[in-house]
Amino acid sequence: MGTGTKIGLGGIGGLIIAGLITLLMGGNIGDVLQQAGGMAMQNETVQEGEFSEEEQELATFSKQVIASTEDIWSQIFREYGIGEYPAPTLVLYTGTTQTACGQGNAAVGPFYCSGDQKVYLDLSFFQTMDRQLGVKGDNSSLAKAYVIAHEVGHHIEYLMGTLDKAHQRMQATNQTNANKYSVRLELMADFYAGVWAHYESRMFGSISDKDLQEAIDCAQKIGDDYLQKRSQGYAQPESFTHGTSAQRMKWFKLGYQTGDVRRATTFQESDATL
Ligand SMILES: [Zn+2]
Repeated sequence: MGTGTKIGLGGIGGLIIAGLITLLMGGNIGDVLQQAGGMAMQNETVQEGEFSEEEQELATFSKQVIASTEDIWSQIFREYGIGEYPAPTLVLYTGTTQTACGQGNAAVGPFYCSGDQKVYLDLSFFQTMDRQLGVKGDNSSLAKAYVIAHEVGHHIEYLMGTLDKAHQRMQATNQTNANKYSVRLELMADFYAGVWAHYESRMFGSISDKDLQEAIDCAQKIGDDYLQKRSQGYAQPESFTHGTSAQRMKWFKLGYQTGDVRRATTFQESDATL
C-alpha cells in the first residue's frame, strides 16, 4: 500500500467503483451506467508486451486517467461548440515501440505522436519519476495523472491546429527560435493538463490540496532548468525546450485555477511574460 492519497478518478474509475459497489449490494449495474448518462466509454488502449504486477497496476491507472481526459475534453468541446472530441489512443508499452513518428523507447519518456494521434507511455517512466526525480505520490497520484494529461494536451494542440502551425515555423527557423516555439507548446500542454485537473476536481471533487501540490512539485521537477542543473550542474536557457520549473508550474496552475481553454495564450506572451 502506498502512503500518498489516491486521486479519485471520477470518470471511468469512479464509474467502475460505483458499479462494483452496486453489484456487491445486489443492485443492477445498468442503473449506474444510466446515471452516468452519455459518458464516453469507447476510448481505446493498446497494451504491448508482458507487464509485471506493478506495471499492470500502473496500466490500469493510466487507462482510468485517459478515460477521464476523454470524458472531460468531450464535455469541454461540447461546452465551447468545438464539436466531437476525437480521443487519442493510449499505447502502453515496455522497452521499445514503433510509431508513426519513429521508434519510441523508455529514454524519451512519454510522448504524443500527431502522425497516428496516439499517446505513448512506457510504464517504466513512472518508476523513473519515483526513483530518479523523487516525485512524491503513489501509483495512482495526480502527479502521474498529470504526465498523461500533459500528453493529451499535445493532442488538443493538434486538434486546434496549433501543433502543426508551430512545427512548420520551427522547421523554417534556427535552433534557438525553434526551442522557443517548443517551450510554448510544452507550456500550453501543461496548461491543458491544468484545465483537465480543474474539471476533474469540479466534477468529482477528487483532487485534494495535497494531490495538487504533488502535481505542482512534479511540474517543477521536470522543468528544463531543474533537469539540466541536475545532470550537468548548470542551465542553458537557449537550449530549453520545455520551459523552466517556474513556467511549468505557472501554466499548470493557471489551467487548474481558471479551467478556461481560452486562456491557452502561451504563443501570445513575450519571453518576459511567459
Ligand atoms: Zn510535452
